[in-house]
Amino acid sequence: MKNILCLPGDGIGIEVMAEARRVGDWFVKNRGLGMRFEEGLVGGSSYDVHATPLTDQTMQRAMDADAVLLGAVGGTKWDNLDFKVKPERGLLRLRKDMDLFANLRPAFVYPALAEASTLKLDVVSGLDILIVRELTGGVYFGEPRGISDIGNGQRRGINTQVYTTAEIHRVGRVAFDIARKRNNRLCSVEKANVMESGLLWREEITKLHKAEFADVELSHMYADNCAMQLVRNPKQFDVIVTDNLFGDLLSDAAAMLTGSLGMLPSASLGATDKNGKRRALYEPVHGSAPDIAGKGVANPLATILSFGMMLRYSFGWSDDADMLEKAVGNVLESGVRTRDIQQAGKKLVSTKEMGEAVMNELERLAAMAPRRERSGA
Ligand code: NAD
Repeated sequence: MKNILCLPGDGIGIEVMAEARRVGDWFVKNRGLGMRFEEGLVGGSSYDVHATPLTDQTMQRAMDADAVLLGAVGGTKWDNLDFKVKPERGLLRLRKDMDLFANLRPAFVYPALAEASTLKLDVVSGLDILIVRELTGGVYFGEPRGISDIGNGQRRGINTQVYTTAEIHRVGRVAFDIARKRNNRLCSVEKANVMESGLLWREEITKLHKAEFADVELSHMYADNCAMQLVRNPKQFDVIVTDNLFGDLLSDAAAMLTGSLGMLPSASLGATDKNGKRRALYEPVHGSAPDIAGKGVANPLATILSFGMMLRYSFGWSDDADMLEKAVGNVLESGVRTRDIQQAGKKLVSTKEMGEAVMNELERLAAMAPRRERSGA
């Protein structure tokens, strides 16, 4: 039995989580998946009750869970709180204490939405890439850091880009593993031409490839070229692995190839413990959207697709993940749209109606695909 901790959070997080939960319940009831869902508070909703955006008890429940599904945190109501208790601190603590070092961001263009991209149809149509970003190291965490006075009215700001062999290998392993399950191609991205840490990254990824993943096709690319290639010909990539800073920029650029924030799922994976369990947090890329919260118009698909990533990456239930992604694709193909992805002549629906449309499509697909015995991964 897989224990899943759901943390809806704030704003539209609560609305989109409700739909993901209904989809989760559907899989339990109709596909025999052994999952148990629990709920907890995070962000502003936790602050309102406990005066902290994440209690120690909820943190422990996240550590003990087989996977965590999060909505979104934040909102204008909590904007003036002290930095230490802001809603976002709850999310940052989850990521830090769970040691989530690999951030997976797929950029997938559903044919029905290809026209929503700012790029030409033939450049993005059929796009299916995945960026693995190192999340806990590099220049955002390296020491020394800070701002100091250097006299004569001058100041100096310092951040340090630093990576060790172990940090590169653990994120590299996640990326090679995923490439094996996709189209078997991995592109490693750094700036080995001008940065020693980049050179180390390239050498260590190459060593890891030789030692453990020689069957995967590996290429290397400088980060500036990768940014260019992502908008020139994104379909050349399968899986990209890169550091924290470059991954921050490249994953946002790749995400926007696909159109709307409301469609983008993500996963963050941590280390595997002695029982073989890997800590993992799944969440939509978007925030709590205070401008539309409570109106029932948010797109729940990013959260539903994040749940799909959980089925695939935490539990190894790929058939069910495929089925869910297919259901979402078919719903879009049928012309059903929330406001953020609305196009002329399509059927505008609420958050709840979008969730229902996905479940109706799952019912239809399930009638065609017989259930079979499965084992967890
Ligand atoms: P946002 O992602 O919440 O919203 C940006 C825009 O996209 C808004 O116009 C919003 O209406 C729209 N949007 C976002 N998700 C949508 C969805 N599912 N369906 C339809 N439209 C959607 O970003 P923001 O406005 O910069 O931030 C709002 C709050 O969310 C802030 O408090 C911020 O700190 C927080 N935030 C949280 C997370 C997180 O929890 N991971 C991420 C980003 C921002």
